[in-house]
Parts: sequence; structure tokens; C-alpha cells
Amino acid sequence: MVTAYIALGANLGDAEAAIRQAFIAINALPGGSVKKTSSLYKTAPLETLHGYAPGGDYINAVVEIETSLSAPALLQHLQQIEQAAGRVRPHINAPRTLDLDLLLYGEGRIDSTSLTVPHPRMWQRAFVLVPLAEIAPRLVTANALKAVEDQPVVRTR
Ligand code: ADP
Ligand code: MG
Repeated sequence: MVTAYIALGANLGDAEAAIRQAFIAINALPGGSVKKTSSLYKTAPLETLHGYAPGGDYINAVVEIETSLSAPALLQHLQQIEQAAGRVRPHINAPRTLDLDLLLYGEGRIDSTSLTVPHPRMWQRAFVLVPLAEIAPRLVTANALKAVEDQPVVRTR
């Protein structure tokens, strides 16, 4: 079994419901289960912060799983969950309601055309690092958190 971390994000429709549903769907994947779930975090879109017409707030979270799936197989399952969540939007090319990113897969380092692990942008994103630090504090140094401290991320529940 490998311990892996997945970042979840949603900002369309009922984003909180989409994240909670994704927790359930990830836990139901073959070959493993969810071990830890972070709180839900709210990130205001930049426009809202600057006082323009608000889009939906982003809801973000991170889960820790144990899995016997390979990293590419896991990514395929995550993409199926994304697509299933997207079906609540009626037309082709509608914006996704759910984004699932594979952050870490054990100690694995993968650099293929369809999969890069560790996720290349995770260290620049407070909405990833803050929930990751909540459930896996040893993986996120104080310096890493300091580097993104200007990005407002509010813990909800
Ligand atoms: P973003 O997550 O940056 O908003 P997308 O979800 O649209 O963008 O990107 C999906 C693409 O990223 C997929 O085609 C997938 O193959 C690729 N990808 C590469 N590395 C990863 C990873 N670690 N987790 C999720 N998707 C990844
Ligand atoms: Mg993605």
C-alpha cells in the first residue's frame, strides 16, 4: 500500500457538496480507502477581493489515502470522478465542478506527459499547502507555508 495525497477544488454550483461527494467517491475507489480528510477551506476569487462582481468562492480540501492502485490508474479513477461530478452541468464544455489533483504518491517521482508527481505547482498554492499541513504537518515546512502566507485561505469546517 502507498500513502498518497489528493487535492480537491470546486467553485461551481454547490461547491461544498461537490467536495463532500468527492470524499465519498475517493473512499469508494478499489484498492484502498481515505485515511484522513482536511477541513474545507474557502478561497475568494481574486475579483471578489478587489471588489468586482464576485464569482463563486473556491472550496478546497486535501485527503490522505492508502492505495494499491498505481499512480496512473489512480489518476484515471480521479478523472472519472471529475467527469461524473461535471455531469450536473448540462452542456458540453461546461466548466468543471470538481478538480482533483494527485499531489504526492508515496515517495514516487513521476514525469510523464499525463502525470507529474509531486504535483509541480503545489508549493505555490496556499489552498493546497494549508489543508495538506492540517492532515500531514510533517510534509509541509514552516518556510513552505510562509512562502504562500499572502494568499488568503479561510478554514470553514
Ligand atoms: P489544473 O488541475 O491545473 O487546473 P486540469 O485538471 O485541467 O488542470 O489538468 C488536467 C491534466 O493535468 C490532465 O490531463 C492530467 O493528465 C494532467 N496532470 C499532470 N500531473 C497531474 C497530477 N499530479 N494530478 C492531476 N493531473 C495531472
Ligand atoms: Mg486537475
